[in-house]
Amino acid sequence: MTDFMDIKEQYRQFGISEAVYEYGQEILNGLQERFKQIDRTAEYNQLKVIHAMQTANVSEACLLGTTGYGYNDLGRDTLEKVYAAVFQTEDALVRPQITCGTHALALALMSNLRPGDELLSPVGKPYDTLEEVIGIRASKGSLKEYGISYRQVDLLSGGGFDYEGIRAAINDRTKLVTIQRSKGYQTRPTLSVAQIGELISFIKGIKPDVICMVDNCYGEFVETKEPSQVGADMVVGSLIKNPGGGLAPIGGYIAGRRDCVENAAYRLTSPGLGKEVGASLGVLPAFYQGLFLAPTVTASALKGAVFAANIYERIGFGVVPDASQSRHDIIQAVTFGSPEGVIAFCEGIQAAASVDSFVTPEPWDMPGYDSQVIMAAGAFVSGSSIELSADGPIAPPYAVYFQGGLTFPHAKLGILKTLQNLMDKGVVTQDFRRQENLS
Ligand SMILES: *Cc1c(COP(=O)(O)O)cnc(C)c1O
Repeated sequence: MTDFMDIKEQYRQFGISEAVYEYGQEILNGLQERFKQIDRTAEYNQLKVIHAMQTANVSEACLLGTTGYGYNDLGRDTLEKVYAAVFQTEDALVRPQITCGTHALALALMSNLRPGDELLSPVGKPYDTLEEVIGIRASKGSLKEYGISYRQVDLLSGGGFDYEGIRAAINDRTKLVTIQRSKGYQTRPTLSVAQIGELISFIKGIKPDVICMVDNCYGEFVETKEPSQVGADMVVGSLIKNPGGGLAPIGGYIAGRRDCVENAAYRLTSPGLGKEVGASLGVLPAFYQGLFLAPTVTASALKGAVFAANIYERIGFGVVPDASQSRHDIIQAVTFGSPEGVIAFCEGIQAAASVDSFVTPEPWDMPGYDSQVIMAAGAFVSGSSIELSADGPIAPPYAVYFQGGLTFPHAKLGILKTLQNLMDKGVVTQDFRRQENLS
């Protein structure tokens, strides 16, 4: 009995009023069915990961690392078998030498494309950082510099695939198709695994030997199937997002067809060396344990996203996905329509952090963006966006992108803290309505 009295006191220590806490409880009461489904997916994926570890004979020796060249690194090679089993692919490359998601994607592209080939994106503009990889924005070492051309077919205005446009874009030079699962920081919908499967079947129906790669960032373990189970030849992602489970301190993965992964390995290290080298140093325990935790960590982040969508939709702000839509990634967009809203939200997230909670995030001129950007992150792993984090450009429509939370109680605290801060700053009224006459 006393524990519920205590919990309000706990929230009060964070400056969260009883009214905000009760508002959150009311929203949560309506989400029990959604949360049950999320838990069910996590249960399925947890079993999938454990089964993969058992099948690959993960042993205590796998947790040791190598140094120097890294020949015969049992833990590294076994972990790659585990990833291949989880994603149901022939092979996988999972390395701390892959520095981030962009690097993993660039590696998959550069190693599987040759001069004269063409890359196609049938889902519109790819993630910002890939523009320089491809050469959409001029950059040293881009695919374009190596004579690899690029074509793009935008999604239809309703978010569907432009099948006729895609058919017309595929030609005898089309070698690789890149499909971004998550909306990233755009307003288009995130693609479900089923939709990705339909798109791949259509493309392979036109050109069976084309390589289909999926940018799987933020999508891992959100559903019970991964894009590699519906025809993708490669799935690619970052270990400081979902599959690292919050524990991996660095890294990326490419899982897929053996020849595609082999190409990537020869490019990552050197022709002739491939997967044989690349010391794992001391990261393997974090990679294994992070993958083990990834299904429930992803579920916590998803619950946080659903909670935020329901709170802010009810108050009157635009949310993508909306409160009841099915989820295919962990990103939640909330449109505040004013700089004050974006800033107050990010301040709330920062104030809920375990690390760096005392700093105040401010908008700054980030390289590569034409407006100022504000970011909130108090992470154990620098830049980790499976941890509670938010960012938004200070430009219309004044939207923030929120993701993560290694545990649901942390995500909940963060979201309640954003709401409290928005009320304290007058962006949300005392009766939980959107303040209409802001800048
Ligand atoms: C995060 C992300 C990337 C790039 O990953 P980094 O680790 O930030 O380099 C690429 N694509 C999508 C969809 C992402 O969400």
